[in-house]
Amino acid sequence: MTHNNKNQGFATKAIHHAYDPQDEGGALTPPLHLTSTFAFPTAEHGGEIFAGDREGHVYSRISNPTNDLLEKRMAVLEGAEAALANASGMGSVTSALWTFVAPGDEIIVDTTLYGCTFAYMRHGLQKFGVDITHVDMTDPQNVAKAISGKTKVVYFETPANPNMRLVDIEAVSAIAHEFDAKVIVDNTYSTPYLTRPIEHGADLVLHSATKYLGGHGDVIAGLIAGRKEDIDQVRLVGMKDMTGAVMAPFNAMLIMRGLKTLQLRMDRHCASAMEIAKRLEQHPMISKVYFPGLPSFEQHELAKKQMADFGGMIAFELIGGMQAGISTMNRLDMIQRAVSLGDAETLIQHPASMTHSTYTPEERAEHGISEGLVRLSVGLEEVEDIWADLEQALPAARAQVA
Ligand SMILES: *Cc1c(COP(=O)(O)O)cnc(C)c1O
Repeated sequence: MTHNNKNQGFATKAIHHAYDPQDEGGALTPPLHLTSTFAFPTAEHGGEIFAGDREGHVYSRISNPTNDLLEKRMAVLEGAEAALANASGMGSVTSALWTFVAPGDEIIVDTTLYGCTFAYMRHGLQKFGVDITHVDMTDPQNVAKAISGKTKVVYFETPANPNMRLVDIEAVSAIAHEFDAKVIVDNTYSTPYLTRPIEHGADLVLHSATKYLGGHGDVIAGLIAGRKEDIDQVRLVGMKDMTGAVMAPFNAMLIMRGLKTLQLRMDRHCASAMEIAKRLEQHPMISKVYFPGLPSFEQHELAKKQMADFGGMIAFELIGGMQAGISTMNRLDMIQRAVSLGDAETLIQHPASMTHSTYTPEERAEHGISEGLVRLSVGLEEVEDIWADLEQALPAARAQVA
């Protein structure tokens, strides 16, 4: 049985796990199950599935064999017992949190969050009586100071979108577990190839699979992994009854296709980003580069501890602030001005006016997202072509000094 061997490496599992072509007439690629409902051989059989006494598919909002295979693969890649496929990354965030919190509960979140996650917490959950407390999790002691019996969830991203701050998963999980709070980590930036938060003590890990897992910019999707007990809850409460945010089986195929090359792509993203970050840091018109692989990065030691490599995302600030950043973006030729990340194409965006415009300017200042920050998703093109485009677009040192 080559398709279920626990000792296999990451890429092998991402390609083979849980599927034997001989079960499907030799089809190398797993079939796509385009069906909304599933026929029961007898009424009693259907009743038993509903009662939870028998395994089986009922309706594709709850489960589907194509999604099921993706979920098994994702679980094994994250080192989790189970996983759940959602319609989007936000579908994973909302399905999980609607499951685990009630009015009067508190969620402790990091100061920096992806824009829509921030909006959901601040304007969505808070409206229903859930308290959201932001703490700077770069120091785990801040979590220890804020946490109490009413804290049900501790939630963070590492690296955080967009400013690359890291959170020590092990330290924060240890504190959260003393209060029986669930630790949920958004692992979109790292992917399970670079960081497996559950191995560091997290309870649940979620992804915008739209990004590196899909990897080709052609699908919106989300995934969440964790203990079977928790994932069953998110499936049967948050997703089935509250958000309905189920992944379409066709999208599950696209994500499985992406997973087959995840390791290869990440190796290239990481190598190119490292090279670009070093060159940006040397550039006279750049005041600050945020990239976990640089020795100058404040949390470089933590990055080495919990990341196998440093990822493909870079944030930087130019001398001349926001205006210099906007003009540089407008001079780019090959690099595309677009939100999203983790695609083959190198993408650049300005968080304050784009992904993080869900924050007010005061909130951005408070949450460490500067107005001039530029976010770069280093793609899979030749690194010299990426650099050539950046170099021609960056302001010339002399012109600025004059
Ligand atoms: C994009 C993103 C999300 C949201 O995912 P969607 O697939 O766009 O819904 C959540 N978290 C992070 C870190 C992201 O980059």
